[in-house]
Amino acid sequence: MPELHGRSAVVTGSTSGIGLGIAARFAAAGANVMLNGFGDPGEIERIRRDLATHGSKVGYHGADMARPGEIVALVADAAREFGAVDILVNNAGIQHVAPVQDFPPEQWERVIAINLSAAFYATRAALPGMLARNWGRIVNIASVHGLVASVQKSAYIAAKHGLVGFTKAVALETAETGVTCNAVCPGWVLTPLVDRQIRARAETEGKTYEQARLALVSEKQPSKEFVTPAQIAELALFLCGDGAAQIRGQAIAADGGWTAQ
Ligand code: NAD
Repeated sequence: MPELHGRSAVVTGSTSGIGLGIAARFAAAGANVMLNGFGDPGEIERIRRDLATHGSKVGYHGADMARPGEIVALVADAAREFGAVDILVNNAGIQHVAPVQDFPPEQWERVIAINLSAAFYATRAALPGMLARNWGRIVNIASVHGLVASVQKSAYIAAKHGLVGFTKAVALETAETGVTCNAVCPGWVLTPLVDRQIRARAETEGKTYEQARLALVSEKQPSKEFVTPAQIAELALFLCGDGAAQIRGQAIAADGGWTAQ
């Protein structure tokens, strides 16, 4: 796998789940990493110190990815602290589950802001530096829901399809440069975001947590196994290497066979 010594990365939403897996893998590969996301300050500091044991610089920025001004500050502060932002992983995301006719407008706006618009603001802020150095990697964590739909997730699906489209647009605009932009499309990954959906399902369907967990993964993923944050991190790391220099504008699924059906 690629070494990232001398590279600096911003990973949005990296205090938990997939983003944390990516941040940890990048730090282990030698990159400076700017963490971002919500959570208990003591726990975030423990994560920061843990990742810094690999020897690179690891910082934390509490930008709310629903707020464009804070996103710009996140990228600017990382560039100031590390000297550059070479790698941007747009990962922060939220879910809201409801039928379209009952979907609360404020939840629609929030999902679109965090899952889609944040990637635009962060990319817009990070790209000039990448182009000036003629090297950069933008990895957008989309979803299988950027490729296919499911019921009751209209905002999430619209945002993730939008993110896949945005990925292609940025890849074309940077095609003659050393900057690449790709999307990763995970299937079910057992993180707090999905844990909440399993608990809700157990309650509404009168199932145990274990039954609801198995039902959730089995109805979509032929492998009947969850994808892990570590597996998504390996894919993101690969996209940051020289071997991936001509992978541009792709939406790469890691989904246990979900979208092969
Ligand atoms: P998670 O809930 O474990 O982590 C989400 C992270 O985003 C956390 O660090 C959280 O603090 C941060 N975050 C949320 N709102 C934020 C905001 N306004 N500003 C800054 N940070 C914010 O979720 P996860 O499952 O690891 O999801 C990460 C990404 O992967 C999301 O974009 C999600 O849509 C995508 N994804 C997840 C799955 C899955 O099955 N878990 C599948 C496909 C795609």
